[in-house]
Amino acid sequence: MLDKDCLFCKILRGEIPSAQIYETPAVLAFLDIAPIRPGHALVIPKAHVASLWELPADIGGDLVTALQVVGRAVREATGATGVNVVMNNGASAGQLVLHAHFHVIPRAEGDGLEPWPGAPYADMAAMTRMAETIRTRI
Ligand SMILES: [Zn+2]
Repeated sequence: MLDKDCLFCKILRGEIPSAQIYETPAVLAFLDIAPIRPGHALVIPKAHVASLWELPADIGGDLVTALQVVGRAVREATGATGVNVVMNNGASAGQLVLHAHFHVIPRAEGDGLEPWPGAPYADMAAMTRMAETIRTRI
């Protein structure tokens, strides 16, 4: 099921050109048009779903295989020594296109991209409370 106004669905229908690199019946991978670094690729389900939580469970294997295959190829093609696989879910998380997608970003030592800042919990009790709160939602 495709969405008529979705940018990625337009790519899937061939209405917008893309530099495609991998395809299965359920998954497509193509280059991001505004890469963080050259070789930055996107892996998307062919089904139009907005985020992680709507992904059809039966394409999980295809998605993981695609991320492995594309990630390895991007790493080798770019000479990268590492790869980030990132999925943004929701506008506050930086999701710009509301069709679920994974970024595959080639990385190298000293490439200038900084890791996300982290800060420790105030104490072990605060971390334990957070874990308990999350567990109640599972
Ligand atoms: Zn779509």
